[in-house]
Amino acid sequence: MSILIYAESAEGKFKKVAFELASYAKKVAESLGTTVTALTVNVSDVSELGKYGVDKVLKVSNDKLAGFNAKAYADVIKQAAQKEGTKLVLLSSTTDSIYLSPLVAVALEAGFASNVVGLPISTSPFQVKRNAFSNKAFNITEISTDVKVLGLAKNSYGLFESAGAATAEDFSPSIGDDDFGVKVESVEKVTGKVSIADADIVVSGGRGLKGPENWGLVENLAEVLGAATACSKPVSDLGWRPHSEHVGQTGKPVATNLYIAIGISGAIQHIAGINSSKVKVVINNDPEAPFFKVADYGIVGDAFEIVPKLTEKLKAF
Ligand code: FAD
Repeated sequence: MSILIYAESAEGKFKKVAFELASYAKKVAESLGTTVTALTVNVSDVSELGKYGVDKVLKVSNDKLAGFNAKAYADVIKQAAQKEGTKLVLLSSTTDSIYLSPLVAVALEAGFASNVVGLPISTSPFQVKRNAFSNKAFNITEISTDVKVLGLAKNSYGLFESAGAATAEDFSPSIGDDDFGVKVESVEKVTGKVSIADADIVVSGGRGLKGPENWGLVENLAEVLGAATACSKPVSDLGWRPHSEHVGQTGKPVATNLYIAIGISGAIQHIAGINSSKVKVVINNDPEAPFFKVADYGIVGDAFEIVPKLTEKLKAF
C-alpha cells in the first residue's frame, strides 16, 4: 500500500505546500518501506512532483472540479485511496485542506490528526506530534484505526528534493450531483502580488500606521522582499485593508520563514496566528509592546522613519 497525498493546486499550478507534503510523505514512506502516490486535480504538467519524491501521480481532469468543493474533493480523495488500497492519507493545512481533511477521514472511517509537525514518533502504535493551543504547546496523538488521515502543519517540514521521476496515470472518479449539494463560490482578486498562503515572507501592518493612506510603507517593503502583505484585525475591521489580509487567531494563520510586524502591539490573539513563523521581527515605538517578548529581532522606533530607510537599504542589495 502506497501513501496517498493530495497535492493542492490553484489555477492549474501546484501550491508550495504540495511540494512540502510530498517531501514529508517521501520520508514517511521510506520509514514504512512503501511509495508515495499523489492525487492531482486539473493540473496538466505534474512532472515537478517527482522531484520531491512522488512515485506515481493519479491525474484527475474534470471541469466539475474547477472550483474547490470540499464534499466533491473529499469523495475524489476517498475513491483514490480505495483504488490504491492506501492506509495513510496526507493533506496540508491550507484553508481548503483544513476543511477537507475531516470529510476525507469520515468518508474513509479513518482516525484523523490535524496540525502534525515532524515525522511520526512511532508507527506501531502510530503516534504523531501536533501543534496545540494556537501553537503554544505540542501534544502526542495516537491513531489506532486501520486507515489514518494526517494534516501536516504549514511550513513545518521544508522542501527536500530527491532523485527520481513520477509516473502519471489518468484517474476518472465518479462524481455525482450529490457532491455539489452545497456550492461554495470563491472570488479572488488577481493582484499579481504574493498570496499570504504561499509567501515565504510576510510584511504586516497594525494600527500604529495610523491610516490606509500610509500603507505604501508596508507595500514598498513587501515589494522589495518579494513578500505578501498582511494586517492586524483592527486594521481590517476599520476597512483600511481587505479582510483577506487579516492574520491571527481569528484570521489567516501564518507560518512563514520571516514575519515583519510594523506598528502591531503583539496582542495574544495576533501572536497565536503567527507564532509558527520561523523568524519574527517587530518595529514599534513602544519598547514595552508585548510583541518584543516573542520577536527574534526588534527595532524600537518610529515606523515612519525606520521603514523607508530599511526599504532603501534593501533595494541596494
Ligand atoms: P494596537 O494594539 O493599537 O497597537 C498598535 C501598536 O502600534 C502599538 O503597540 C503602538 O506602540 C505602535 N505604534 C504606534 N505608532 C507607531 C509608530 N509611529 N511607529 C511604530 N509603532 C507605532 N487581532 C489580530 O491581529 N488578529 C486576530 O486574529 C485577532 N483575533 C481576536 C479575537 C478576539 C476574540 C479578540 C477579543 C481580539 C482579537 N484580536 C485580533 C484583537 C487583538 O486583541 C488586538 O486588539 C489587536 O491585535 C491589536 O491590533 P494592533 O496591534 O494593530 O493595534
